Amino acid sequence: MIRRCDVAVVGGGLVGATLAQALRRWPLSVAVIDPGGGGGADARSLALSFGSARLYRTLGLWDEVERDAAAITEVHVSRRGGFGFTRIRAGECGVDALGYVTSAGSLERRLNEALDSDAELRTSGFERIRAVVESVEVRSGETLVAAAGPDGPVTVAARLVVGADGADSAVRRAAGLPIRVHRCDHVAFAGDLSPERPHRGRAFERFTECGPLAVLPRGEERCGFVWAVPEPVADEPDFEGPRFPKRLAEMFGGRLGELRDVERRVRHPLRVSHAPRITAPRTVLVGNAANALHPVGAQGFNLGLRDVEALARLLGDASVDGADPASVVARYAMARRADHAMARVLTASLLGIYGSRAPLVPALGAAGLFALDRLGPAKRGFANLTMGAGWRRGEGAGARAALGGALRGAWSEREGEGLGAR
Ligand SMILES: Cc1cc2nc3c(=O)[nH]c(=O)nc-3n(C[C@H](O)[C@H](O)[C@H](O)COP(=O)(O)OP(=O)(O)OC[C@H]3O[C@@H](n4cnc5c(N)ncnc54)[C@H](O)[C@@H]3O)c2cc1C
Repeated sequence: MIRRCDVAVVGGGLVGATLAQALRRWPLSVAVIDPGGGGGADARSLALSFGSARLYRTLGLWDEVERDAAAITEVHVSRRGGFGFTRIRAGECGVDALGYVTSAGSLERRLNEALDSDAELRTSGFERIRAVVESVEVRSGETLVAAAGPDGPVTVAARLVVGADGADSAVRRAAGLPIRVHRCDHVAFAGDLSPERPHRGRAFERFTECGPLAVLPRGEERCGFVWAVPEPVADEPDFEGPRFPKRLAEMFGGRLGELRDVERRVRHPLRVSHAPRITAPRTVLVGNAANALHPVGAQGFNLGLRDVEALARLLGDASVDGADPASVVARYAMARRADHAMARVLTASLLGIYGSRAPLVPALGAAGLFALDRLGPAKRGFANLTMGAGWRRGEGAGARAALGGALRGAWSEREGEGLGAR
């Protein structure tokens, strides 16, 4: 039997599950296809931008998200061994919180529980299909999505298919959309710790000779950390067992006093890639299927949520006009181009400057941070970008000055060290 719907969302991870929630507000039939069982155990800290929090408020999901979220009231950026640092405070940007930190696994679990429990969704043309998509074929007027479920093969005919199926997207492959894989020799260690001094809502991004280290507020007395370490360094004995907390504390410094109870340290391989084209006939890509970013600067999921916002708005308008959902494809590609490029540039600039081992570059990076703290409008532009406002035409002068000027004019997609294309 073929199941028919307007939109098939392939992948019910963080981005796909949020998209399903965003589409429920419109007269659209939606099928979410995912094998299930992923995500829940992933306790890594996830920094949500101000813009992402706003999206969850709009979707009526904020209470769910907030239950396990700590507010970021200040971002502190520094480089180990350098004088430069910058601080961005929520008050300077006219907001109560610059963003929030939650656990990736609990957010994914809650989003999926909300989908499962929502009776309204079940009666309004929403279907969740537990299956792995194996092929997608575009026919005239529809796409045929073939998947393998626990009870055998499933076929879904959709007018639009959304690839929310992560960095190794089957939808992207089936659509013949090329992928650019960037060299990234980092692995990320993520876990929790208890600082001796209260974090007071401060999030720290610290650039160290062993890679960028983020220490993020979690509960009252806990912090999460995400440390991207060059692979050869990560294999050194210092990163094993009881020596790891010592190394972490040495790199972070004394801002929070002693770092105790370093727990749940998980090693994540990092894959950095982007799809130069994110649409094909009756097909669009969102989230990691379009851009899998390095975690420095905490951009990846926030960027994916901006994909969700843009796509849901376009599909909502089309549904109200009675138009074919696939009519949004070209507009979606246009709408996302600049923001995608900007997020990649932001990430690559940070990595390119601080990840370089060339002797001059760290000093220039430190000077950049120092300058950034004194450039009021530029800092605000940078903060807007990292808070999840995304890139919009005419709004970027501050951000461009902050990164292009203060961070030594690294304002082009770098092909060099750290993130060079393969
Ligand atoms: C260490 C680390 C720290 C990070 N920190 C941050 C942060 O602080 N802030 C931030 O914004 N981002 C952060 N990120 C990035 C963020 O985790 C990702 O951008 C986000 O998880 C991407 O979500 P996604 O739903 O697009 O993809 P995924 O999470 O990969 O989900 C893909 C889904 O598709 C399903 N799927 C895959 N193949 C198929 C198929 N063939 N058929 C059906 N279903 C399929 C999978 O089961 C899964 O549910 C971090 C990443 C790492 C590695």
